[in-house]
Amino acid sequence: MPLFRSKQRRDIKPHQVKCHIRKDDQVVVIAGKDKGKIGRVLQVFPRRQRAIVEGVNIVKRHMRPTPYAEGGIVEKPAPIHISNLMVFCPKCTRGVRIGRKILEDGSKVRVCKRCGEIIEAKE
Ligand SMILES: [Zn+2]
Repeated sequence: MPLFRSKQRRDIKPHQVKCHIRKDDQVVVIAGKDKGKIGRVLQVFPRRQRAIVEGVNIVKRHMRPTPYAEGGIVEKPAPIHISNLMVFCPKCTRGVRIGRKILEDGSKVRVCKRCGEIIEAKE
């Protein structure tokens, strides 16, 4: 038995990858120190079940100076677990659960389970 689990073992299998969150979504943080914050999703890591959200979970990184960038303390958003996030519905002005719907033209869209409004990532 290893004393600690490697990062690899926390990854889930590809067929289990289900993500209610997508890049450029507006999301609400529902747990943790940034609870209540609303931000835009910058990046999603489906296999890690994590996402980077603008202005949420800011960490300070101490950077060593390189020829390309100066050293010092850099603040940047760190990945947050997607279970702490909910998609923000502009109509309900709150975090909502997401359903899926197929439109008459055959395209699949995500909808708000509360009000039925179509939620699509902004282009
Ligand atoms: Zn809604």
